[in-house]
Amino acid sequence: MVRVEARGLAEPWEEMPTERILVVEDEPEIAEAVRAYLQREGFAVEVRGEGAAAIAAADAETPSLMIVDVGLPQMNGFEVYRKIAEKARIPTIFLTARSDEVDRIVGLELGADDYVVKPFSPRELVARVRAVLRRSTAPPVEKKQHVLRVHDLVVDLDAHDVRRGDGHVQLTPAEFRILAALAAEPGRVFTRPQLLDTLNDDGGIYERTLDRHINNLRKKLEPNPDQPTYVITVYGVGYKMRK
Ligand code: CA
Repeated sequence: MVRVEARGLAEPWEEMPTERILVVEDEPEIAEAVRAYLQREGFAVEVRGEGAAAIAAADAETPSLMIVDVGLPQMNGFEVYRKIAEKARIPTIFLTARSDEVDRIVGLELGADDYVVKPFSPRELVARVRAVLRRSTAPPVEKKQHVLRVHDLVVDLDAHDVRRGDGHVQLTPAEFRILAALAAEPGRVFTRPQLLDTLNDDGGIYERTLDRHINNLRKKLEPNPDQPTYVITVYGVGYKMRK
């Protein structure tokens, strides 16, 4: 008998969190054009026309991103940015009308994520906003790679630790590096020179030494080292981690 799961029709879609954008711009026409465009693209938008109000708004509810005009009354956009940055690092795109301002953004390394020179198209600005948000929310690539899991092997690159099932496997540094390289890309065939490269700071490693490391690795990892199931020889080419 086939059981059909009832699906709750009333169940709401999981709501996507709305990205909040703080726009700090004293020219009402530009501010409203930017607001309208960003809202149409699904962003929640707050507009402030001068620094103190912008700092208060950023303080009250941290936005996902700020768009800050450099030429503001009273406090300029750089000062506003610095004041806000004392409390929270918020991805920021500066709006600028002058090339000497661009020089300051770039030269002073204010920590701005991008800048847009006036006059600009709202479409261009939205593209920059999306790009900055993507960069600031994406986890760094190496973070994802710190723990490799292949079959029942867990290779912890930070802790230099290898586990198979419940047990730890004690490896030498060279064996660990070979395993880490193979396990990072299961199924990829590594030539001997490529694997030797992973060991190159040991200096003076030769192909026979590599083969010895592989044999030792197998003795430690494989249930039956004579019939390897993890580290596979690809005859005439090199080695691979079984996919
Ligand atoms: Ca202005």
